[in-house]
Amino acid sequence: MPIPYDQLKQALFAEQDTLTKELAKLQSTIKEEGVGYSTHPADDGTNAFDQARDLAVQVNAEQTLKLVTDALARFENGTYGLCVNCGQEIDAARLEAIPYAPLCLSCQSRLEHR
Ligand SMILES: [Zn+2]
Repeated sequence: MPIPYDQLKQALFAEQDTLTKELAKLQSTIKEEGVGYSTHPADDGTNAFDQARDLAVQVNAEQTLKLVTDALARFENGTYGLCVNCGQEIDAARLEAIPYAPLCLSCQSRLEHR
C-alpha cells in the first residue's frame, strides 16, 4: 500500500490547527483558575484535581503538537514517512493511524520495552 502523503499532510495540518486551538483554550482556562505549581495541591481540594487534569491534558497536547510540527518539518525536507531512528519506511497503515509517528513500529516497540 503506497503512503497517501497528501492526505496525511492535510491530516497533520488539521491536527496542528486543532491542537493549537485546544492549547489556547486550555491556557486561558488555567489562567482564569489561577493554577500555580503549588506544593500542596490537596489544599485546593477538587479544584486542584481539575487543574492537574487540565495540566496533564495540556502537556499531552503540547507533546502531540511538537510531534505534528516535527512531522510537517519532515515533509519539508523530504524525509516524511521514514523512521527518524533507523531510516526505514514507516508502514503506511501506521501513518494513517498516527500521521505524526516519528518511529517505525520496531523502533517504537523497542523504545517502549526499554
Ligand atoms: Zn525504525
